[in-house]
Amino acid sequence: MGTLFYKGVFKIAKVYICPFCKTNKIRFNLIEQVVTPIKKDPKTGKIIEILEEDPLQIKYNGSKYRVQCGTCGAIEDERMFIKK
Ligand SMILES: [Zn+2]
Repeated sequence: MGTLFYKGVFKIAKVYICPFCKTNKIRFNLIEQVVTPIKKDPKTGKIIEILEEDPLQIKYNGSKYRVQCGTCGAIEDERMFIKK
């Protein structure tokens, strides 16, 4: 296994294969997920507060990246694309 330098972070190199078209192993769009915790006014829909820490609000712990297949366009969590 090698490493990949991406946005200042070394990641372990993983072979991807698209789980949908099952042919693409080369062309991908890496989509970084940026999480913004918000609170909304239930009547108006307006954002009323943006909080970093709220013990009552579940923290996002989903995948950091989603991956789009550059051949068929399917978008899924990175783990779906990692070749087993
Ligand atoms: Zn595909």
